[in-house]
Amino acid sequence: MRSDYTDPNKSTTDLDTEKSIRPNSFSEFIGQKNVVNNLDIYISAAKARGEQLDHVLLFGPPGLGKTTLAHIIANQMEVNVKSTSGPVIERAGDLAGMLTNLTYKDVFFIDEIHRLNNVVEEYLYSAMEDFTIDIVIDKGPSARNVQLNLDKFSLVGATTRLGRLTSPMRDRFGIILRMEYYTPADLFQILMRSADILDIELTQDGAEEIAKRSRGTPRIANRILRRTRDYAQVKGNGIIDKVISDKSLKLLEIDDLGLDNMDRLILKTIIEKFDGGPVGLNSLAVAISEDSETIEDVYEPYLIQNGLLQRTARGRKATPKTYGYFNIPVKSEQKTLF
Ligand code: ADP
Repeated sequence: MRSDYTDPNKSTTDLDTEKSIRPNSFSEFIGQKNVVNNLDIYISAAKARGEQLDHVLLFGPPGLGKTTLAHIIANQMEVNVKSTSGPVIERAGDLAGMLTNLTYKDVFFIDEIHRLNNVVEEYLYSAMEDFTIDIVIDKGPSARNVQLNLDKFSLVGATTRLGRLTSPMRDRFGIILRMEYYTPADLFQILMRSADILDIELTQDGAEEIAKRSRGTPRIANRILRRTRDYAQVKGNGIIDKVISDKSLKLLEIDDLGLDNMDRLILKTIIEKFDGGPVGLNSLAVAISEDSETIEDVYEPYLIQNGLLQRTARGRKATPKTYGYFNIPVKSEQKTLF
């Protein structure tokens, strides 16, 4: 529910469904026990003291529930949430406008916080630390700086990688939590819950099949569920079982490990064009015509977790498992590199 901006690539129906299946409370939020347990304690403590929650930074790959948690934090704190995204805030003035609109204890959610520009980021420091900002009033020779006190708020920042944040920014967060990929068992529950809300007939083995091929990511699991519902409606009797799930996933070109065409292109390019690597990220990005940040944030983490890709100081490398995945024999000179 990114209230202040929308993804132009998503249709309104998909956005509506996404809204309806987004968990609203910790009890509906499946998995990520460590993150949830931590937040639950800090929220209870802040509420008992009658204070705003300390600033929270959530990091992890896209689609794992960072935005969802920001909204849940606001719900649990019983406050309002205002959402924006790093690249959307162009000038310090834009940020000042948003900050002065917050009331005591409100949650201010900034998605992709690593993409704030330097000027805006520095402006945010005093707001986070002392809850003050400098604004310029009047124009020309009579222009002067005035310090404005803000209501104490909680900043919830989301980023795909902690290392992307400058250290002064990172240091201003009192709570830093890492989101992990979900287990197939968690995704199974998420799928069953979504199917229930959307009135989709999903069998146990159908959900298991989708869960294990959703690369540990609720957003992907929910998307596959919607596409499989379409498939089941047109090619079956509307019920999503293992057979229908498998056929639909094949049509989506998602394999048993949850890899899609882009994953396979990345791995195959490293093997075929760069002799298994190491290859620098930028060369790889050019070779497959994809943005290097997308490769790094969206594709790589899952491939690395599955042992299909290695990130080394000299670049990206295929592993013996990558060769095995494509049934390509490892050349003898290559073996010494592993
Ligand atoms: P992020 O902000 O990390 O990219 P989102 O919060 O937008 O991810 O989550 C993507 C989708 O996945 C949401 O629409 C939500 O419905 C679903 N989702 C995420 N985490 C969970 C969870 N723990 N339980 C159930 N659904 C979830």
